[in-house]
Amino acid sequence: MQSIERLKPMLQEEPCALSTPCYVYSVSAVERNFKALKQALGTQLIYSFKANSNLELMVRCGHIFTDGIELASQGELGLMATGKAPRYINNPSADKNFLRAAIASKAQIIIDHPAQLEVMKDFVGKRPIAPLILRLNPCVLSDYDPQPSLRANHFGMDWPLLQQAINRCQQLQLEVGGVHLFTGSYQFERHAISTAQAALQCVERIQQLLDGPLNFLNLGGGFDEHWQQNDFDFEQYRHLLAEFPSHVTLAHESGRGIMASAGHFVTKVRYTKTIEDRHYAICDGGMAQNFLLAQTENTFRRYAQPTVVHNTTPAGHTGTWLLAGTSCNKDDLIGQLNDASIGVGDFAIFADCGAYNASYTVSPFLNLPTANTYIVE
Ligand SMILES: *Cc1c(COP(=O)(O)O)cnc(C)c1O
Repeated sequence: MQSIERLKPMLQEEPCALSTPCYVYSVSAVERNFKALKQALGTQLIYSFKANSNLELMVRCGHIFTDGIELASQGELGLMATGKAPRYINNPSADKNFLRAAIASKAQIIIDHPAQLEVMKDFVGKRPIAPLILRLNPCVLSDYDPQPSLRANHFGMDWPLLQQAINRCQQLQLEVGGVHLFTGSYQFERHAISTAQAALQCVERIQQLLDGPLNFLNLGGGFDEHWQQNDFDFEQYRHLLAEFPSHVTLAHESGRGIMASAGHFVTKVRYTKTIEDRHYAICDGGMAQNFLLAQTENTFRRYAQPTVVHNTTPAGHTGTWLLAGTSCNKDDLIGQLNDASIGVGDFAIFADCGAYNASYTVSPFLNLPTANTYIVE
């Protein structure tokens, strides 16, 4: 297939081309999103692997993620054990095995708290250890941010822990390569300016603690799936970033903002039925292949509205349809159509399924089949 724009016409012309349920990922869409975001930020851009860890896609995107890939588990590190791009590992629960594996595969370790340094201690002098990145809790900004409104979380260090970690690194002769900050998913627009302003003021304090220059600062991200359509002023943001001392290499990281719009989920209608005027399309895929579509984590469910490709028979009633999956779970409803019709054999194409939809689906339940994956240019 040439591109994702071809998905709909292709299914019309060739209904057997894809085996459903499936994900379709577009390499060129990943590349477009990545380049656009990197350009908008004017900094390094690190890919957060947990958003989409499909290996074939990673191989095809190898030339894109040259600023680095952030890995959150030993399993993820195993998948990305080699490669030219810098690899960062980041997890407050990283244990000795994970840290050993990270050192062995020359990844850069993001230290979440001083106790991880005590685990690192045993590796000092045995193998070269890449300069460590120290993760800050967003609360460090609150001294400098006039309107701190971030929800508390358990990641990284406050000032006393940071001081402790830096002291311990000095004692253990572990080099500190920089600091890392992440205010959370979906937080960028709301907090980017105040985060950068506060971070600017933190640099001096961090350098005093380090007793040397801060070389690397990851400002996190938390970009929406459609960050391009928001009216965030990237130009103003870049001007603000230009105020950082030139020896500080700046980075951001993103999963959703790069991957979400680069993936589609396709399922096919097996049956239709109507219960008390409510129309249901029973599909061959649902929450067992795409957990997020079922919106079980949202109080107010606003189901995704897929694009329908009519395939065979005349479609059913025109009205409101709920699309159901295969898992015998009453919450396995993945989409809604309003004032539309859908029939047996039709395809439902869900956009924005490139980030977390596949990777956040955990389901050995009922031994249902996993979704197929297709990679397109
Ligand atoms: C998950 C994660 C990200 C990516 O979040 P998105 O919302 O997908 O951009 C970035 N940084 C850290 C530390 C993360 O844990």
